[in-house]
Amino acid sequence: MHQKNIMKALVYHGATKKSWEEKPKPAILQSTDAIVRITKTTICGTDLHIMKGDVPEVEDGRILGHEGIGVIEETGASVTAFKKGDKVLISCITSCGKCDYCKRGMYSHCENGGWILGHLIDGTQAEYVRIPFAENSLYHIPEGSDEEALVMLSDILPTGFECGVLNGKIQPGSSVAIIGSGPIGLAALLTAQFYTPAQIIMIDPDDNRLEVATKFGATHIINNSKEDAVEKIKALTNKKGVDTAIEAVGVPATFELCEDIIAPGGVIANIGVHGKSATLHLEKLWAHNITITTRLVDTVTTPMLLKTVQSKKLDAKKLITHHFKLSDIMNAYETFGHAAKEKALKVILSNE
Ligand SMILES: [Zn+2]
Ligand SMILES: [Zn+2]
Repeated sequence: MHQKNIMKALVYHGATKKSWEEKPKPAILQSTDAIVRITKTTICGTDLHIMKGDVPEVEDGRILGHEGIGVIEETGASVTAFKKGDKVLISCITSCGKCDYCKRGMYSHCENGGWILGHLIDGTQAEYVRIPFAENSLYHIPEGSDEEALVMLSDILPTGFECGVLNGKIQPGSSVAIIGSGPIGLAALLTAQFYTPAQIIMIDPDDNRLEVATKFGATHIINNSKEDAVEKIKALTNKKGVDTAIEAVGVPATFELCEDIIAPGGVIANIGVHGKSATLHLEKLWAHNITITTRLVDTVTTPMLLKTVQSKKLDAKKLITHHFKLSDIMNAYETFGHAAKEKALKVILSNE
C-alpha cells in the first residue's frame, strides 16, 4: 500500500484492548459520503463503556470516536452543500434525512444511520473519517468560531439539552435536580439556564465536580455520598420535590433517586445509558401525574446550539479541562479514564 493512503487511528481490539496504529485512509464508498480530515476530537464516556466491553456490537478493529471537527478532504458526487477545504462540525448522529424517522426529526433512529460512528463504522479518533450522508450529518463552521468550543456540539450539548432540558420541560421559575455532575450533567446544567429555572440542584458524590457545577450556575449542590439527597431536596422545595429530575448517570440507584424526589406533575428525564433494570415504584407514583421520558440524542437542536455558542450566550469551552495531541490519545484515555482523580471533564485532541 502506498504511504499516502495510510493514517493513524485509535483502534478497539476487544474489551480493555486498544492501540494507536496505522490504518488505511478512508475512501468514498457512496456518492453521499464525505471524507473529513480531523482537526479536533475528544473522548466520550460512551467510549469508556465500549472499552469495558459494555457495547458488544463494536467489533475488533473498529476505530472509535463520534465527536469532532475537521476539514473536508473529498466529497462524493452527490454532495453539493460541502466542498474540499470547508470546515465542518461532525454530528455524533448520522442521518439520511429521507427515511420515516428522519422526516419526523428523530435522526437517532435513522433507518440508514443513527449512532454508527465509532460504533458500527469507523469513527473520529483518527486522522481521517468517512462521514455517510454528509449533507445531513455535517454542519458548516462559521468564520471566526472558537473551534474547540464547537467540539462540545457533536454530542454532549445536544444530548444534555434534548434528552434532559427539552424532555424535562424546564420552565421559568421551576425547580430542577440533575443527578450526575459529569460532562453530560453539566451540559444539561448549562442549557437548562436558557429557561431560567428558579432552582437547579446538582447531585454528585464528587466534591470537585460539584464545585464546577456551582461555577456553572447550580443554585444548590448535594454530595450524596455524605448527605441524604432526598431529605435535602425536600427541605429545599417546601417538601414538594422538584418539577424536573434529570438522570445523567445511568445506574439503577440514580434513576430510583429521581423517583424519590419528583414533585406531583413533574418529569423524570432520563439521559443515562442503562445496562441494568431499575425499579419503577408505581405503588408510589401512580397517582402523582408523573411523566418519564427516555431519548437518544437526535442532534436536531445542533443548528440552534451552534448559534448560542457563536453568540457567546453559551460558554461551551468551560467543559474543556485537558488538551493533548491526537497522537497522544493513549495518554488522553488514561486521564479521562481517571476523571475524578485528574479533575477531567472533556479532553481536546488536536491534529494540526
Ligand atoms: Zn458521546
Ligand atoms: Zn434517515
